[in-house]
Amino acid sequence: MKIRAAVLEEFGRPLEVQELDLAEPKAGEVLVRLVACGVCHTDLYTASGADPSGYAPTVLGHEGAGVVERVGDGVGSVGPGDHVVTLFSPQCRECTHCLDPRTNLCLAIREQQNQGLLPDGTTRLSRDGEPIRHFMGTSTFAEYTVMPEIALAKISPEAPLDRACVFACGLSTGLGAALNTAKVEPGSTCVVFGAGLVGLGAVAGCRLSGAERILCVDPAEQRLELARGQGATDTLAGGPEVVEQILELTGGFGADYTFEATGRVDVMRQAVESARMGWGLATVCGVAGKGETLDVVPRYLITGRRVAGSSFGGVKGRDQVPLLIDRYLAGDIDVDPLISHTLTLDDVNRGFDLMHAQDGIRSVISFGG
Ligand SMILES: [Zn+2]
Ligand SMILES: [Zn+2]
Repeated sequence: MKIRAAVLEEFGRPLEVQELDLAEPKAGEVLVRLVACGVCHTDLYTASGADPSGYAPTVLGHEGAGVVERVGDGVGSVGPGDHVVTLFSPQCRECTHCLDPRTNLCLAIREQQNQGLLPDGTTRLSRDGEPIRHFMGTSTFAEYTVMPEIALAKISPEAPLDRACVFACGLSTGLGAALNTAKVEPGSTCVVFGAGLVGLGAVAGCRLSGAERILCVDPAEQRLELARGQGATDTLAGGPEVVEQILELTGGFGADYTFEATGRVDVMRQAVESARMGWGLATVCGVAGKGETLDVVPRYLITGRRVAGSSFGGVKGRDQVPLLIDRYLAGDIDVDPLISHTLTLDDVNRGFDLMHAQDGIRSVISFGG
């Protein structure tokens, strides 16, 4: 079938909305009609060419939500008409990691996905017979996409898809960091560095866990206002003195749980240093640039602080994304303030411009229907 999609032709150049061919889903695959898709920093990072593992041409986009149109042979967990959220982090439910509650890093299709291929080693996307690679196994800056069944979370049909899409990446990453990775305990003190979508999700996750104090650190007052809306009790502008400020606000000890959601290694260090002696846990959610290293004085660790990393918030996507969306529908998570702009597919580059300008938290592409 013919579809319209935003193609990354060349790094550092705007995406081009073009007509492409999309083949029918093969065994284990699903054709999804996209209804909405968030524009995430990872799309921008790849488009810029800063990611050495990036490739072009490809169709970017990974925060998709839509409706199943058709399924290939052997697909049993979703069917036509089902509402789904796309998962760049799949869940096969069979590999060693999927069977272990300690991780969400499914091993089933990692290699093919990293190369821009579907699990059988080919693409469904093409242009004049030339294959176009998939991105993050999702390629959701498009009217339709073909994805593996194991990379789709079937969600409540009551959830508006232009809200559900942010659970495909940033929001679930933050919520899961607090709920799954750190397992924040009721009554605790938390610090969240960065009030983008991931950080705001972490603030909400700390609140849902019953944290007593939630400090949020961000230089932008507008974002701190949103953080207060998600449950932050104290806000700080950040900077080199922020560790000292946090120690002062926490009786000299630091916080039970800290979360880093900026991708900056100097902030990761602050997250470690502002965690409480004895048991403080610093959870790193941000993705640092290739080759960057985290500088930690070992004394911080020997005196009881711990560091954890969290990819997609430790969320096992097919099992847990639907549950997070149910909590949203129950009124536990306030998604509306996080969506600042609604764009058409043709406006996709504007979504990148808004991100560069730090204008709003999330732009969402609406495909209509
Ligand atoms: Zn993302
Ligand atoms: Zn797996």
